[in-house]
Parts: sequence; structure tokens; C-alpha cells
Amino acid sequence: MISLLDVSKRYKNGHLALDNVSMEIEAGEFVFLCGQSGAGKSTLIRLLFREEVATSGQLIVNNRNLMRIKRRDLLKHRREMGIVFQDYRLLPKKNVFDNVAYAMQVTESRKREIARRVPEVLELVGLSDKGENFPSQLSGGEQQRVAIARALVNRPAILVADEPTGNLDPQNSDELMEVLIRINDRGTTVVMATHAKDIVNAMKKRVIMLDHGKVVYDEKEGGYHEAPLL
Ligand code: ADP
Repeated sequence: MISLLDVSKRYKNGHLALDNVSMEIEAGEFVFLCGQSGAGKSTLIRLLFREEVATSGQLIVNNRNLMRIKRRDLLKHRREMGIVFQDYRLLPKKNVFDNVAYAMQVTESRKREIARRVPEVLELVGLSDKGENFPSQLSGGEQQRVAIARALVNRPAILVADEPTGNLDPQNSDELMEVLIRINDRGTTVVMATHAKDIVNAMKKRVIMLDHGKVVYDEKEGGYHEAPLL
């Protein structure tokens, strides 16, 4: 599903943000991408969406070779991935239903399909009764669940969450993790970038730890530990 072989990314200013990174993530996995601020997590996510191009190496996502993808396929590629950010990024003047529906409108889905699918994803994230509410009328945890519903509405194969619990208190974080696990249980591959140690340690999922652009460990059911276990 996601395959990186010796991927490096050097920014124009000369900074090497990823240094020979290799990893294989299978369909249906749940993976934590960890590391301190500056470790290279966001850079890796930008490469997965092809917002940035790797400087060298091989990068295949969803059977697409991102090192030489055509413009036409790039749009398709991005639509086949869902993303959630720390700061939700909802449209303040649209209600919950319309925030989620909007993601289907831009892909030119039919009205009938939108009317059927949006309630389905709102139910999945536990917000069936909030469709009419505006983002400002929701808690942070609820807003983030709207963002997840929006990311999922077009049925992506991969959901990427970039520090999704960064603005949430422990209870809302726990609820959000339950939603992400439910989504993963239904078959969506989930990659979550975070430095929330407590969450990572509680979940017993695969951990890929980055430090200064390198993978320092990659463990099934790993916890969050600073130094590689040698
Ligand atoms: P993280 O998401 O783990 O905090 P980033 O991927 O944002 O890490 O950053 C990795 C390194 O690359 C940092 O040292 C950062 O300063 C640098 N970096 C990120 N984006 C750019 C950019 N557009 N140009 C130059 N350097 C960048």
C-alpha cells in the first residue's frame, strides 16, 4: 500500500529532512509515525500526497509510482487518500453536514449519493445528531471527528492523520482514537503522525520512529521510546 525505498528529501535550502528512509506499510495496517518536532514526519506526509517530490529513492503509494506520476493521475491519487490535520480546518460558515458533503461536491458526486453517504460517515464518527450544527457549536473533539468524516467520505484507501489529537484533552483524544481504530477495523489503512507518547503506548500498534530524518526503529506493537533498542 505504501512502499518507500531509500527515500531522501533535501529542501531547496539544503536541509536534508529525510535521509534514506525505507518502509513497507501493508493494506489494513495501523501505523504510528513518531518523532520529535523536526524529525521529518510532515515531510514524509507531504511526500505521500506528492505535495513535495522526493529527491531520491523509490516511493509507491496505492500502486502509484510517485516519482513519475502524471498530472492527471496526481489528482486521482490525492482523492484516494484522506487527511486530517491538528487544527481541523473546517469551513466555519457551513454546518457539519455541508462540511462533509463539500468533499463529495468537489469530486462531482451526485446529490443522491451525497445524501446517502454523508449520514453514513457521520454515524461512523458518532455525530449523527450534529449535522445541523456549525463548527463553532462543537467541542474540539467533535470538530476533529467532522474532519475525519470529511476525510473518509470519498472512501479513501489510506487515511493520514497529522497530530490529530494535538489540540485535544485526554478524554477527547481517547474518543478520537476509538474512531480511528473503528475505521481501521473496517479496512482503511491508517497512518497517524504523533508525538503523544501516552496514546502510542496504550494502543500497541506498529510504531515507526523518525529522528533527524532517519528511521531509528520500526516495531510491531512497539511503544514510544527515545533511543533505538539494539
Ligand atoms: P516534523 O513534522 O517531524 O516536525 P518536518 O518534516 O516538518 O518535521 O521537518 C523536518 C526538517 O525539515 C526540519 O528540520 C524542518 O525545519 C525542515 N523543513 C521542513 N519543511 C521545510 C521546507 N519547506 N524548507 C526547508 N526545510 C524544511
